Amino acid sequence: MNPIKLLPEETVRRIAAGEVITRPTAAVKELIENSLDAGATEIKIEVKAGGKNLIKVNDNGSGMERDDVRLAVARHATSKLDGIEDLKSLRSYGFRGEALASIAAVSRLTIETNVNDAEPGTRLEVDGGDIREIAETAYPRGTTVTARTLFFNLPARRSFLKSDNYELKLVVETVKGYAAAYPEIVFELISNGRTLFCLPKCEGMKKRLKGLYDRQTIESFVRLKVDNPLLSLSGFLAEPSQTKNFYEVEAVYINRRPVRNRTVVRAICDGYGPVLRDRRPNFIIFIETDPAKLDVNIHPTKQEVRFADERFLFDFISEAVRQVLGTRHDEQTGVDEFLYQRSLETGMDASAQGFWQLHNSYILAQVISGYVIVDQHAAHERILFEEITRQRRHVSPQGLLFPITLELSPEQFAAYEQSGKGLARMGMETKVFSGRTVVVETVPAGAYMGKGEIKEFFAELADVSSGNAVPEVELAKLISCKAAIKFGQRLSQPEMESLINRLFACDEPHFCPHGRPTIIKVTLEELGRKFGRT
Ligand code: ADP
Ligand code: MG
Repeated sequence: MNPIKLLPEETVRRIAAGEVITRPTAAVKELIENSLDAGATEIKIEVKAGGKNLIKVNDNGSGMERDDVRLAVARHATSKLDGIEDLKSLRSYGFRGEALASIAAVSRLTIETNVNDAEPGTRLEVDGGDIREIAETAYPRGTTVTARTLFFNLPARRSFLKSDNYELKLVVETVKGYAAAYPEIVFELISNGRTLFCLPKCEGMKKRLKGLYDRQTIESFVRLKVDNPLLSLSGFLAEPSQTKNFYEVEAVYINRRPVRNRTVVRAICDGYGPVLRDRRPNFIIFIETDPAKLDVNIHPTKQEVRFADERFLFDFISEAVRQVLGTRHDEQTGVDEFLYQRSLETGMDASAQGFWQLHNSYILAQVISGYVIVDQHAAHERILFEEITRQRRHVSPQGLLFPITLELSPEQFAAYEQSGKGLARMGMETKVFSGRTVVVETVPAGAYMGKGEIKEFFAELADVSSGNAVPEVELAKLISCKAAIKFGQRLSQPEMESLINRLFACDEPHFCPHGRPTIIKVTLEELGRKFGRT
């Protein structure tokens, strides 16, 4: 066997670069992302031979100072991340500082850039990773990166590239992907000197999409928009009757990053339900969420992201799709519809209205186009949560006939001390009896809280606190959860009616504070389909 040797620096560099930049479209993607990160409002992409011979991306973004240009092509040089902690609040596309260095390592690269129009800019030439020249040049504000003869120094990789047409097709898909997400930015794509598209700045998303995809497909889309404290979902979906044997556009974006995410695709198909049979819907879905809920660092080119709670993501999206497709004719949600029906029927006895409690856990109520199922615990959690957060300082406390005395563990007591005032504001008045013994004197009005729930409350408070003060929203969530009507609790007709009326008076009646649905709607149309009537 040969002795083990350390690979020369240059070889390591090229191998690493080949992992990020696998083919022309990968370089195009990185360069567009850099332009977006630089705040460009116009991005022009030019390729020759599908990007094999030339990739040129020009933007009117912030540009770079001379010293920064030199650094930009060094590995792990980035202006977007200071430490690993910043990943949690990342809003930019880049953060690893690898892209330019990688492209530079496997091509003949030129960067022309300037930070203002008044003074001269900089021109940098790099050949297979080695800086050849850095000079002043006349250049307006913005940046042009030109990469020629990709993989000239990795002949095996170059020979594995597919035909020019195929590589071009991938480049076009990449450019379209970003153009769809940024209607406010001008995108131009040129291939072998021919303009493939030049998209002006557009007011609405739909307008931009029409410039990119089949007009009829876009025209027939149903709009989707659902907001929730954890996620906001928007986009377009094909009407169930417009699903096809193949799809033209199946695009998922998370925080405007085009991604592949099987959970999202499966959830959308699940939302269509059996109407889909073996066909595929066209869709474009944008998900916005707190970056802390995402792991974008699981894939070398960041095309895959992992969501902290994939199960929730699935439920949320499939339910949103069901709702929008089930209500597209009247554009009314189950809630509006219910209130409307209530107003028509005022004066009617609640029992004639007929709420039905299923397994002492779910409430069924008829609405015009079908029925709704309400999760009684989740619904009550939502109600309490909004009452607590809305009223803040004066949630009415409800005195306990027999105050509850508890001996807290040291962690629980620490958490309790940290949130004492917040608790009182939220309707839980307490005092320390002696040592770590605490007396709970009141609970929020309308709460269903006994000793068991209060014990659980302190145990979970210690978990969320882990030594720090618990933010008020979290405290409110925890109280709502413990104080809410439980699964398995029998409710009278007036109790059910009051619960539903209060739910529908909430700002966000569709989801509990943890983001799970509170209401599921089943339409007559769906029933008809299931029974083979339509
Ligand atoms: P990353 O995007 O992960 O930071 P890159 O290698 O893609 O790493 O870019 C390195 C740095 O070069 C960026 O952090 C940025 O400061 C700068 N840069 C790259 N492209 C541009 C551009 N088009 N406009 C302005 N600055 C740029
Ligand atoms: Mg980058």
